[in-house]
Amino acid sequence: METFDVGIIGAGIHGASAAFHLTQAGAKPVIIERTVPAGGPTGRSSAICRAYYTNPFLARIARDSIEMFEGFEELTGRDAGFRRTGLLYLHPPGDVADVARSVGKLNELGIETQLLDVDTLAERFPAFDFEGIGVGAYELGAGHSDPSAATSGLFDRAVQLGATPRIGLGVVALEPRRSGGAILGLSDGSRVACDTVLIAAGPWTRPLALQAGADLPLHAERHFVAVYRWAGVEPVPAHGDTAQGYYLRPEGDELFLSGKLLPEPPVDPDHLDESIHDDEAAWVAERLVDRVPHLAAAQVARGWASLYDVSPDWQPVIGEVAPGVFVDAGTSGHGYKLAPALGREVARMVLGEDTDRGLVDFHPSRFDDGRTLDAGYREAHILG
Ligand SMILES: Cc1cc2nc3c(=O)[nH]c(=O)nc-3n(C[C@H](O)[C@H](O)[C@H](O)COP(=O)(O)OP(=O)(O)OC[C@H]3O[C@@H](n4cnc5c(N)ncnc54)[C@H](O)[C@@H]3O)c2cc1C
Repeated sequence: METFDVGIIGAGIHGASAAFHLTQAGAKPVIIERTVPAGGPTGRSSAICRAYYTNPFLARIARDSIEMFEGFEELTGRDAGFRRTGLLYLHPPGDVADVARSVGKLNELGIETQLLDVDTLAERFPAFDFEGIGVGAYELGAGHSDPSAATSGLFDRAVQLGATPRIGLGVVALEPRRSGGAILGLSDGSRVACDTVLIAAGPWTRPLALQAGADLPLHAERHFVAVYRWAGVEPVPAHGDTAQGYYLRPEGDELFLSGKLLPEPPVDPDHLDESIHDDEAAWVAERLVDRVPHLAAAQVARGWASLYDVSPDWQPVIGEVAPGVFVDAGTSGHGYKLAPALGREVARMVLGEDTDRGLVDFHPSRFDDGRTLDAGYREAHILG
């Protein structure tokens, strides 16, 4: 049986980033992915990269990730397609004090964010109707990137530095070892022994962790992305509307993407309906037109749906769940942009090195202790 110091299950952006940082630190992990890198939810992500977080640790991680996306080619030899657009956040009047406090903290962290009252919003963004909005925030450095390119960049670099890829093979059994780590049974009948294991399997993390004795309170939700054509209308800036519960970002010059900021019911991740439904495109179109009336002339192009792996407080679940068995999951619809810099902390955790002290808050034991982390604003927990 082959033996590895680290076995990573899943090559979404989290598994790929952990592999990248582990190999930078001299480790030689095996990465086991049953489809292809970014073949799961990562590849279907809207891939908005913002550091507008209420949680200070995640704000710092997102800030550092955006810096990595910008310098991706130097790090990995590949362009992650990062496009800086800036991002406008709209909030109802009840959020004024919280947003002002949060914007102050973000600026202290070097995340340049402007606090905008309604008069300033109306002056700067004349295409918008600010009915129901009490305050805005504008993050100058936010943007989006290409999730498949970014994941492949991290993954390929890890392989160049000595990681072993096992692509197209699923982990079908995880047998924890008394000495720590686990023996992983793969879908081709082979087995690998791993001194430590990192489960980064997104919505499929729970059944794997259960085999190590950890019942994590994670569930999957189906979320859609609607794609529209500007069709000659004046493009509007990327924005997230917490009053109406949607976001919009440009995609190239012709298109924009839009989706929901609100929770959905739990679903079975193995029976996903990946197509967008007419009523979903209509739900978001109605809100878009309320906010930006001239978008009535935009055209529905297409769309898709994929999965969020959601934790009870909508914050990531990261930590050791059995001796030598770790998880990095539960990213709750906002984990794409965290991955490049978070992977460094995850790699340190797996190697038993000191991590940023902020990481400990994300250990799944918080749920056993009845603790949850604050996240976002009201139902828009996704803002983290
Ligand atoms: C529609 C949508 C829009 C989103 N928009 C944003 C956004 O704008 N910004 C943002 O930051 N985040 C966004 N997210 C969230 C973000 O994409 C996720 O948080 C992130 O991609 C999770 O990455 P991951 O590596 O943890 O998991 P995944 O991408 O789920 O990867 C897990 C991998 O594990 C593999 N796997 C599972 N089980 C096994 C097994 N037994 N054996 C081997 N391999 C296995 C899967 O095939 C998969 O490739 C969005 C997500 C979706 C679905």
